[in-house]
Amino acid sequence: MDRRNFLGAAGLSAATLLASRLHSAETRPNIVILYADDLGYGDVGCNGAVAVKTPNIDRLARQGLRFTAGHCPAATCTPSRYSLLSGEYAFRRRGTGVLPGDAALIVPTDRSNLPALLKQAGYATGAVGKWHLGLGDGQTLDWNAEIKPGPREVGFDYSFVMAATGDRVPCVFVENQRVVGLVADDPLQVSYKQPFPGEPTGVSERDHLKMDWSAGHNMGVVNGIGRIGWYRGGRAAQWKDEDMADTFTAKGVEFMERNRTKPFFLYFATHDIHVPRVPHPRFQGATTMGPRGDAIVEFDACVGTLLDALERLGLSDNTLVILSSDNGPVLDDGYRDGAVEKLGDHKPAGPFRGGKYTVLEGGTREPFIVRWPARVKPGVSDAVVSQVDFCASLSALVGAKLADNDAPDSLNVLPALLGESRTGREWLLSQNNGGNPLALKRGDWKLIVGPGHPKPGTLYNLKDDIGETRNVAADHPEIVAELAAKIEWCRNTPKTRP
Ligand code: CA
Repeated sequence: MDRRNFLGAAGLSAATLLASRLHSAETRPNIVILYADDLGYGDVGCNGAVAVKTPNIDRLARQGLRFTAGHCPAATCTPSRYSLLSGEYAFRRRGTGVLPGDAALIVPTDRSNLPALLKQAGYATGAVGKWHLGLGDGQTLDWNAEIKPGPREVGFDYSFVMAATGDRVPCVFVENQRVVGLVADDPLQVSYKQPFPGEPTGVSERDHLKMDWSAGHNMGVVNGIGRIGWYRGGRAAQWKDEDMADTFTAKGVEFMERNRTKPFFLYFATHDIHVPRVPHPRFQGATTMGPRGDAIVEFDACVGTLLDALERLGLSDNTLVILSSDNGPVLDDGYRDGAVEKLGDHKPAGPFRGGKYTVLEGGTREPFIVRWPARVKPGVSDAVVSQVDFCASLSALVGAKLADNDAPDSLNVLPALLGESRTGREWLLSQNNGGNPLALKRGDWKLIVGPGHPKPGTLYNLKDDIGETRNVAADHPEIVAELAAKIEWCRNTPKTRP
């Protein structure tokens, strides 16, 4: 081969290699997690709801794979989100129960979490919506300065989040490392220890509130609604609850538009349908169920807007969309919003018992839909899958390597998530807030151990008793012993992943 031909061949093979790399980059899907808050299994049309219409979620289900045994890892917000992003059971780490609004970051930054794993594989990563995983390093946080560590240190290139929850102060958005809209002469101060003298509270203002409280939620007042925690200042930065869903959705769409030419990961964690439920006026009265039903319609509309944006950007076909929720339903969660009185025949948890704050099926079995038109065949799957497995499964999908200490409880169940296998998790561990009680499900059997349960645990056979009404522990001591031993193993080993 003469020199010119050699160079030509080398150039050609480099070009071929580059093309194949580009091809492989292009065939990796974008990943969008649509994460609702406190949405129950039965709250969506595709799982049987009739009193509330969810046409966009139902469309996603028709075009994708709907799971009937898709679980969140815990029965409350913070631990579920912790496990989804870190791939670790939250009970392993102290202080992973529902966090106050001024809590420090609890997600470990000395190893790779889900966004960091995807980032290593070349993904642009964004978090929009509810965070509730703490901000700052545990020193008193100055909300008027750069706020860190936070989403960036966990692996998100971009973030637009509320610090904690809608019912906790501060009621402001944090974009990347700064509170949005603060003005210099009105600094924001936050306290979870004592009120600021002279500031109105949910007690002093009770007769003038937009939405009355039923328990707690009577400290600082923002937008006519009592919250948990006190604050002073920062008034120009305060959100208006009615606009929150639209704001988050717009930020989610902008993130996808900005990153349309490279693979991206969007963690879109809407505030709906957590309390206080204050949907935009165009959704108020959309159902007969009051604000809780109307907030479901608002969430569905956000899903529609995000799916439409994917379509408009030409990205629908090669985007893996996963829709789920962080824990099961709750009716009265501290505000008098009619959720109990106006429920009618609606079954928020579908056929299951329990909801938020329980490890009964209603607490952790969630709406769970996977859509990826380029690869996933539409249908229904009864494989047991959990959000704790996103780290290992999505890493396997994009070719990211887990280090030994990354995502210690995350299993690769990618074939089940993509509908290529009917086998998901062989066993599933669920926890309540703070790690107690714990439940272990294996096949038709489920054992719950911890406070409120007789020793050695409450055993249900889900095949005969999906509503978890009959404790059959006394009839099956060998099953109780087997499941109890598995729970103890999970508790005592630092890592359940192979
Ligand atoms: Ca929640």
